[in-house]
Amino acid sequence: MPTGESWGRWPRCQQRIIALSSRLDPLPAAGPILAFGNGRSYGDVCLNAGGTLLATRGLDRFVSFDASTGILECEAGVLLSDVIALTLPQGWFPAVTPGTALVTVGGAIANDVHGKNHHRAGTFAHHVLEFQLHRSDGQVLRCALDQNADWFGATVGGLGLTGLITTARLRLRRVPGPWILGDSQRFDNLQEFFELAAESDAAYEYTVAWLDCAASGSKLGRGVFMRGNHGQHDAPPPRERTLRFPVTPPFSPVTGLSVRLFNELYYHRPAAQQSNAIWHYQPFLFPLDRLLDWNRLYGPRGFFQYQCVLPGTEATTALSEMLRLIAVSRQGSFLVVLKQFGNLPSRGLLSFPRPGVTLALDFPNRGEPTLRLLESLDAITRSVRGAVYPAKDARMSAHSFQQYFPAWRQLRDYIDPKFSSSFWRRVTGSS
Ligand SMILES: Cc1cc2nc3c(=O)[nH]c(=O)nc-3n(C[C@H](O)[C@H](O)[C@H](O)COP(=O)(O)OP(=O)(O)OC[C@H]3O[C@@H](n4cnc5c(N)ncnc54)[C@H](O)[C@@H]3O)c2cc1C
Repeated sequence: MPTGESWGRWPRCQQRIIALSSRLDPLPAAGPILAFGNGRSYGDVCLNAGGTLLATRGLDRFVSFDASTGILECEAGVLLSDVIALTLPQGWFPAVTPGTALVTVGGAIANDVHGKNHHRAGTFAHHVLEFQLHRSDGQVLRCALDQNADWFGATVGGLGLTGLITTARLRLRRVPGPWILGDSQRFDNLQEFFELAAESDAAYEYTVAWLDCAASGSKLGRGVFMRGNHGQHDAPPPRERTLRFPVTPPFSPVTGLSVRLFNELYYHRPAAQQSNAIWHYQPFLFPLDRLLDWNRLYGPRGFFQYQCVLPGTEATTALSEMLRLIAVSRQGSFLVVLKQFGNLPSRGLLSFPRPGVTLALDFPNRGEPTLRLLESLDAITRSVRGAVYPAKDARMSAHSFQQYFPAWRQLRDYIDPKFSSSFWRRVTGSS
């Protein structure tokens, strides 16, 4: 059996892989099976140790696109980058995009992904009109808000467990072109971050902050806030250049020292304070997509991402405590994102986004010390009734998961009996 891995490159497991090329392909008779999109989840939601993965990238056909309404129908293995390539020249853009465009439509639905405009647009599922769900017993369900609505709610954010999504119909949003106009500014602490978020959310489609996770003492919680709207600009789009991280270094160069140095430079660079910024959508929305295989940076042991959402009035204290622990541990990385989610209720039983502030950051895998640190972050998340994002997780305990997502018991009624994942077995103890 070939070894498979996800974006965090940990865990690695043996699984059989069947490449789908037609949406009419029958599902294999023997389980456990699981759909695999483009493997941009960080942990084990897209892995199926000892089972079979249905690789969906071959389901890559567009079915229809109406440039007068922005309604697109496509197969589930189409990448968002392909959607953009087709629709942007006609003035349309996906209504919600995660921090990489290299995800499939099926993967975006199954994790009900969110973007930098969550406060305005909600999650991916808010813009999904319908999809086809293939079950292992041969049934094909059309799922929409007006038909099989319960299956719709179980499948969006349903971690691929309810069956195979083969096609979807999406509503895109109009844009004047490829440019994002806005500004960026430094903030000195979390209080200033929350003020900037509150002041920006009504006027800006996209808001997001980078945080210096190595800063401590009076610098704790400092970062750079970026905000912008799709806008008109006359310059030709920059030439697309893609680089590849060439090798996996034997040791990760991401250390306490390199992170402190990088963060100091990043925080003080002139672009951190710009009043009339003009970004091409690519570096603004998908900053790492031009550097292929950047996940090799963390060396052969891979890395973890920790993304939590902290709701309510205790969020600031919880966040400060997390940042203090991370700074003391010297285990954080330079890739740290902070974002205020909006209040639009998610549509999926297990969707991750909910009102609150979300923190996402990478940790090189240093074994036990890293796992201990992440468990102590979980203790804080649990204490404020927050949640950790399954799409980014490879290690949360069953206890944590079941507290974060009490609807997991309801999801069980919709799980296809042939479908399972390494993640689901880990967090529910099911076989
Ligand atoms: C650099 C980077 C930035 C990111 N930023 C964000 C972000 O801002 N917001 C966010 O929400 N996420 C973000 N992510 C996570 C990513 O968007 C999600 O993990 C996404 O679901 C990955 O899609 P994929 O196509 O690679 O699916 P995979 O990772 O291969 O699979 C994800 C899940 O979808 C299921 N699945 C895939 N295809 C199908 C199908 N056809 N039918 C049924 N189930 C299916 C799988 O079983 C699995 O459970 C980021 C990831 C990276 C690497």
